Amino acid sequence: MPVILDGKKLSQEIQLEIKHTIEERRINGKKIPHLAAVLVGNDGASTTYVNSKIRLCKAVGMQSTFIHLDASTTESELLKIVHDINQNDDIDGFIVQLPLPKHINETNIIEAINPKKDVDGFHPINLGRMQLGLPAFISATPAGIVTMLERYQIETAGKHCVVIGRSNIVGTPMSILLSRNTNPGNCTVTICHSRTKNLKDICLQADIIVAALGKPEFVTADMVKEGAVVVDVGISRLDADNEKGYVIKGDVKFDEVAPKCAAISPVPGGVGLMTVVSLLMNTMKAVELNN
Ligand code: NAP
Repeated sequence: MPVILDGKKLSQEIQLEIKHTIEERRINGKKIPHLAAVLVGNDGASTTYVNSKIRLCKAVGMQSTFIHLDASTTESELLKIVHDINQNDDIDGFIVQLPLPKHINETNIIEAINPKKDVDGFHPINLGRMQLGLPAFISATPAGIVTMLERYQIETAGKHCVVIGRSNIVGTPMSILLSRNTNPGNCTVTICHSRTKNLKDICLQADIIVAALGKPEFVTADMVKEGAVVVDVGISRLDADNEKGYVIKGDVKFDEVAPKCAAISPVPGGVGLMTVVSLLMNTMKAVELNN
């Protein structure tokens, strides 16, 4: 049976560690970390994500502020709010939940965020610093995966890692992090995308597969070699005839792939939970950096 890379258990352990650190800061009269989250509009999934981030802040004793703006908020109004938060010394880190409504240019907003408070790690300065191996905020999902590999002591050095997906928030940073001269890291990385030919043959050569393409149950058993480590990043909500009316599926066909693996992360209960806790870890970094 494979090792299950249990994001729920691991994120709970890390939450406890953060809680203790915050308690120690409180006892020592140090600043309590403060995360702000800005949400524009009422997109269902985004509201769920922001609520879970705020809930987790409260659970670990972190201060939080939820700024919920109307969907009609203009780009210049949002920029003004971003500038205000940049200037607010009490807020150590903040996120602007993506995606933003179509009339707002996301790049303009991301570039307006003070990189020292950019706990989502989306600012070009943080992405560039990460690429150079300099201290940086690393975006929450890749950071969560790296933490997961580290804590489960997955051997990465010299391994061939195939990353499926090249988005700026998951696939590309993941490929950079795993190819760096660090631990976890030192992989030989192949990054695949929708134009990749012979994806199955490439996957069959992989010691580690990171599936981040957003296609439910895309990775099947015939694409995975015996003993591989599979990290499933995908989150797709599919209609279902159950109480909730939907099920969450990953990018990997878990039931048939798992028996071939040395280790595999489930969906739900895997990378998603690590992502939220990584945001808190970045906020802990921010309070140290900014005070
Ligand atoms: P995205 O921006 O849509 O990027 C998807 C990537 O997959 C693109 O690079 C695309 O290639 C590639 N792709 C699409 N179809 C493919 C195919 N048939 N074969 C090979 N590559 C293919 O998605 P994302 O934001 O990276 O998210 C990916 C998935 O992870 C989604 O399910 C998302 O919900 C999930 N996610 C989860 C977390 C978490 O916390 N667990 C966080 C973020 C995202 P092209 O570049 O050629 O279009």
